[in-house]
Amino acid sequence: MKSNPLNISIKDITKKYGDFYALKEINLEVMSGEFLTLLGPSGSGKTTLLMALAGFTSPDYGSIKFGNEEVVLKPPHLRGIGMVFQNYALFPHMNVEQNVGYPQKLRGVSKSSIKETVDEALSTVKLDGLGHRGVSELSGGQKQRVALARAIVFKPKILLMDEPLSALDKKLREEMQIELRHLHDSLNITTVYVTHDQKEALTMSDRIAVINEGSLMQLGTPTEIYNYPNNSFIADFIGESSLIPIKVKDKCAQLGALKLLVNHKVDFDGDYLLVIRPEKLFLSTGNEINTNFFVVSVLESIFQGESQLLVIKLDSKLFGEQTLQMRIANGTDLKEKLPAVGEKISVGLRMADTFLVEK
Ligand code: ATP
Repeated sequence: MKSNPLNISIKDITKKYGDFYALKEINLEVMSGEFLTLLGPSGSGKTTLLMALAGFTSPDYGSIKFGNEEVVLKPPHLRGIGMVFQNYALFPHMNVEQNVGYPQKLRGVSKSSIKETVDEALSTVKLDGLGHRGVSELSGGQKQRVALARAIVFKPKILLMDEPLSALDKKLREEMQIELRHLHDSLNITTVYVTHDQKEALTMSDRIAVINEGSLMQLGTPTEIYNYPNNSFIADFIGESSLIPIKVKDKCAQLGALKLLVNHKVDFDGDYLLVIRPEKLFLSTGNEINTNFFVVSVLESIFQGESQLLVIKLDSKLFGEQTLQMRIANGTDLKEKLPAVGEKISVGLRMADTFLVEK
């Protein structure tokens, strides 16, 4: 079921409700065949932007192009998009086959062609043989597959998804994330996906557009967004992090009395935040090169299955009152090396793993 994907050009899209800006001059290029995720906290404007792409919301200003075609004034049913919603939006009085075939029926496609494309779509989402089931006889995961089959049955060039997995339990959601990504690859379809779940965004996307308060905060690949957040909001929102206030003085980064080795040019004096990912801290022997060492006391030690989370406190005489988190992967030797609560230990942070954002 291959289609020719279209790129999407979003220019200066602005949407106001009264005096409130739900979207502020959003500029974004979604590449042809790309899986792009709109990620942001609740109320940030993700759904408003997706609905503007779908045609259900009219922006006050700006342009949306699918390929070379301006669509901003086009009604939803003429935009040629597939759409999947959080609540499935299936028709309860229709069986699976009728639900999936509905967009084709609206398009006046012949009965035999509908049967063929519905079977193909159901097979793509691994629901072969369930065409005659009633919607109420399906599990949550199966309902979402039906919604997906209905969205792709007419081979759209663009697929829009609004939190499609949020009603599923964690395990199924994680399985479906991988499956949806594979499906995207096999269909070769431009996909815009909305979620507030940063892990889901990191797992599935080619690129992530982080939205906050109606503005685009950062656009990048999952690794860029995770490793090089361009401000403290993103550092805090994506992944786990401890944000430690530091100073840059005379081109030297300092945490209390400690001169930090940082992986940055620090040309401008001022206050910054050192972003520390818990998994980047390690139990140090003190001999590692190009490494910052901190003396810390262990406040808490929490077993979390695949890893142990330590809450540690920097030595207050040297660094002021600061707690941070450290994550140690749960390998076979973890038990022997795990420090006890109350113990003072030295932890290392490699220069290459330091990252500063403006305060
Ligand atoms: P969530 O993850 O909770 O769905 P979101 O990022 O998708 O959030 P939107 O639904 O796009 O957020 O809403 C963005 C802002 O616009 C919110 O503050 C919301 O209250 C506001 N908003 C959305 N629709 C309307 C409307 N019809 N009238 C007034 N305000 C609205």
